Amino acid sequence: MSGPGCPICKKPPETAYRPFCSRRCADVDLQRWLTNRYAVPAEDDDEGAREAAFDDE
Ligand SMILES: [Zn+2]
Repeated sequence: MSGPGCPICKKPPETAYRPFCSRRCADVDLQRWLTNRYAVPAEDDDEGAREAAFDDE
């Protein structure tokens, strides 16, 4: 069976931390999620970019 497993390290998940195998892996996933979330609006600091966004159809 190669389906469900910890998304980070593929080990069998621990019930308390499902779908992760440990608190550490759950933390890693959360950090990735936050990083992705903050990576996008970081570019929104440019005034030129703001105008370009308005013109973009
Ligand atoms: Zn893991």
